[in-house]
Amino acid sequence: MVRRRIVRWVAPAALIVAVVTALTTIAARPLAAQRVIPGLDASAMDTTVLPGNDFYRYANGNWDRRTVIPPDKSSYGAFNIAADHAEQQLVTVVHDAVATRAPAGSDLRKIGDYYMAYSNTRVIDRRGTAPIRPLLDSIAAIDDRVALARFIGAHIRADVDPINNGVLHTDNPFGLWIAQDFNHPTRNVAALLQGGIALPDRSYYLDKSSRMAALRNTYRKHVARMLTLAHVANASAKADAILALETQIAATHWKVEESEDPAKGNNHWARADFARKAPGLDWNAFFTAAQLASEDSLVAWQPSAIAGISALTASAPLASWKDLLAYHAIEDHAAVLPGAIDREAFAFFGKTLSGTEAQATRDHRAVDATSDALGFAVGKLYVDRYFPASAKASAEKMVAGIIRAFQHRIDELSWMAPSTKSEAKAKLSTLRVSIGYPDKWPSYAALRIVPNDAYGNADRVERFTYERSIAKLREPVDRSEWVMTPQTVNAVNLPAMNALNFPAAILQPPFFDATRADAMNYGGIGAVIGHEISHSFDNNGANFDAHGELRNWWTPADLAHFQASTQALARQYSSYHPLPDLAINGQQTLSEDIADLAGVTASHDAFVASLNGKPAATVGGLTGDQQFFLSFGQIWRTKFREPALRRQLLTNGHAPGPWRAYTVRNLDAWYAPFDVKPGETLYLAPSTRVRIW
Ligand SMILES: [Zn+2]
Repeated sequence: MVRRRIVRWVAPAALIVAVVTALTTIAARPLAAQRVIPGLDASAMDTTVLPGNDFYRYANGNWDRRTVIPPDKSSYGAFNIAADHAEQQLVTVVHDAVATRAPAGSDLRKIGDYYMAYSNTRVIDRRGTAPIRPLLDSIAAIDDRVALARFIGAHIRADVDPINNGVLHTDNPFGLWIAQDFNHPTRNVAALLQGGIALPDRSYYLDKSSRMAALRNTYRKHVARMLTLAHVANASAKADAILALETQIAATHWKVEESEDPAKGNNHWARADFARKAPGLDWNAFFTAAQLASEDSLVAWQPSAIAGISALTASAPLASWKDLLAYHAIEDHAAVLPGAIDREAFAFFGKTLSGTEAQATRDHRAVDATSDALGFAVGKLYVDRYFPASAKASAEKMVAGIIRAFQHRIDELSWMAPSTKSEAKAKLSTLRVSIGYPDKWPSYAALRIVPNDAYGNADRVERFTYERSIAKLREPVDRSEWVMTPQTVNAVNLPAMNALNFPAAILQPPFFDATRADAMNYGGIGAVIGHEISHSFDNNGANFDAHGELRNWWTPADLAHFQASTQALARQYSSYHPLPDLAINGQQTLSEDIADLAGVTASHDAFVASLNGKPAATVGGLTGDQQFFLSFGQIWRTKFREPALRRQLLTNGHAPGPWRAYTVRNLDAWYAPFDVKPGETLYLAPSTRVRIW
């Protein structure tokens, strides 16, 4: 399944405080009432709430009440707290790179030049739309369907990743993902994904509700304004044509939960088959322009959508396609075009679509843009400066303990056949875990960064990334490759690679603190480590064997048991209503919910094992188990603006943070420490608690 990361950012959301389940207020309990608990945020807790009625609010209720989402964010929570800290560190790293004036051609100089060009809005404003003019002219020059195919092929980018990073969206007509072939795990293969819409998901075009209809109306006006600002004539009529074509494209698209399924996506088509299976587009022209003409076969990830989009390239008016391509080109480059275009893009995508009130400062955006563009070059500086060897050693020790806990759990599973167990254990034993940063740093030698050319630099980075992806088609699979930069506050499981990237930046509070009690680190970063390991065994990870081959290694009875318990978890999540008119889609979030459950379970086991039979030291009057679960509850603190919460529910593989804290109701170990009783909202009878691993 798709989103293998611990969390996926939604673009930064009217302060809907996640109204959770019914709250019962009771007199303050003796437990941890407003005391100091070193290593945890005691002041965040609302001890008037019974943990059994709402564990999220018990752990975070006061934080939730007093926290105001910063104006430049659409949501705010534990990941932002850590990310804000990492951001401050990145500001230092990038500003120092500027001050160094390193020799031309060095990574340090490229970082400095990229940042300076992006920051210099005076130069960007003065150049106006001149930088994008050649691209708009080349779109205007498309005079037939072959030229259309050639343009689409030449401008495809390596901008999607349905399995590792869970990136399903691109506004290019197709997205490309080059990664390990699920059928032949030692080679790479190119996969073509659906694209072509600017709004985040098909539902934004097809949902009949008045709310979505109003949003589309605002969007149409936004499209017209963007065209006008880029000096495109007849903007209003063109906006109508663009929305009409995007709506036709959206109708061909797969839903998120389908696109996340590697078994549904693993469709190998011979290159020559595309014309027969997906008629419409001139595929020869497309593949040649995309540098894919020598591939014998490719993966068609969403076959019916690829066929649908291909058919539309032949049936929809050529003029509509040209309008759509021009609008997407402007939207994609808004950040490096004049201020009026940049502000209009934010007004719609930041404010209307996500509820963010204000744009981040240009300086912060420049640091982030540089950190994205030259990710591992910035990451190397970040790690050298801020990631101590002791943090790496500490995380490696926890990883080893949690893997042992998984092995032990597999041994003890009463329902699993010995043959399935040995396959599962083989997967665990070959799992490649990298902590902090990659063993080999990717080279940026072939990337040219030009002072004072923000637009050109952004464009060259996209092409550089594409060329680097294409080159992988001629190289064997490299299991040491990272898909996430070290300065990212997140973690990721690469199921086909059977590998795990654990970036340096997540090894900090509230997830990890070397100076606090172990129980808190196991409940924090330990649960995150367990989450990522367990993705190897979620509903999608369980489809891959120890070598990364998409192969069923389950006995039918084991698979039936596994699917029955995962469906019980999907029903549990589908019963939560973060918005009055919108529930969590427990099928869409299933792999992440499984990972949360298995992760906190294994980390708790590892914590207990680490005690060697002795009781954990109490801290602030809390037992070890209380510290563990409160720490877990506190890493899920999140507040959303309403549009951002809606967007997450519609498009994201992760349940919103507060509902992830409720995972604990499935663990026997959570009940006694918090005195949870039948009749309380989160209480589950032992027989109805979901147990998967
Ligand atoms: Zn995940």
